[in-house]
Amino acid sequence: MPSPLPVLRSEPPVATLSERLARDECTIEGELFTHEPGGRVRCVACAHRCVIGEGSTGACGVRRNLAGTLRVPHGYVARRYVRAVETNTIFHVLPGARALTFGMYGCDLRCPYCHNHQLSQALRDGGSAEMPTTISAESLVDEALRAGCRVLCAAYNEPLISAEWVRTVFGVARARGLRTALVSDGHSTPEALHYLRDVTDVFRVDLKAHSEVAYKLLGGRLQPVLDAIVLARELGYWVEVVTLVVPGLNQERRAIMDLGARLRDISPELPWHLNGFVPRYRLSTREPASASFLLALAGAAYVAGSRFVYVGNAPSCRELAHTRCPGCHMMLVRRADYAATHVALQGASCPACSQVIPGLWQ
Ligand code: SF4
Repeated sequence: MPSPLPVLRSEPPVATLSERLARDECTIEGELFTHEPGGRVRCVACAHRCVIGEGSTGACGVRRNLAGTLRVPHGYVARRYVRAVETNTIFHVLPGARALTFGMYGCDLRCPYCHNHQLSQALRDGGSAEMPTTISAESLVDEALRAGCRVLCAAYNEPLISAEWVRTVFGVARARGLRTALVSDGHSTPEALHYLRDVTDVFRVDLKAHSEVAYKLLGGRLQPVLDAIVLARELGYWVEVVTLVVPGLNQERRAIMDLGARLRDISPELPWHLNGFVPRYRLSTREPASASFLLALAGAAYVAGSRFVYVGNAPSCRELAHTRCPGCHMMLVRRADYAATHVALQGASCPACSQVIPGLWQ
């Protein structure tokens, strides 16, 4: 008898990232949307306010209309790390505290210099070598507590496109004593800010450019970001603002000073971080931001009345990573390499002149 032929089994096709993220275990029915005629839905998680037809996703690539309802990311992370809270450019919150920071996939913007493009642009750029890790909110918070964290951050890609999942995770984190922080592009809506307020302490916003023309290159609009900064403060979030200074996009004195003036109109006490661009992603051949330019901008902002201006990504500007008392100039928080090395604050006050320093220090 001839031996039987081996049975050939075809391997199941490998799912793409987009297919994986669309599976039931990675989605849940959303809350930040309304129904529109013809089975369409309108998502209100970010300022695009996409109207999405059946079977399609919004501009972020992760919120999908399935049979007339919006399915949204839930129950997974793309990456997570434990690092000092300052690595998220958050300087007035629990200096030196450890933070567990998690990120997902997709973004409402398409910045050509994104630090985390492997996550944020993975769906536009044709996938990712990484796949999501399914995890519960409780397990994520357990990890943070086991690692000695006092803060949980949603960052790396735009967290508001996963607002429902962020709300679930932050709700558990807050109930177990952690501070919570959104690291956002700020291209937001009042609906999303209200939705997350009761579980979120910090709104760390990127204010990327001074004009609607410049914002259009990034796929968004300036005005919703400015509106979000104002509303977040009114709602009681602790707000810090980052402007990445990018040659060819906004490395222009008048443009940056204009942004500074807008922020001072909101509050001169709003911490403003001027971070230098580092070549990467689609701008990998562009020159880094000039340290002397960053220094000059920070000096001009102080002279104009900004009280807390920081410079980052510029080793020659290390002195501008510290927090000094705006009244008597005493060193209050010394930092090195995005971590606090010495804190002299007494509660929330300067020990020398008793000036109250805004922030979430305790
Ligand atoms: S989060 Fe923004 S980009 Fe994504 S579907 Fe909603 S409105 Fe569109």
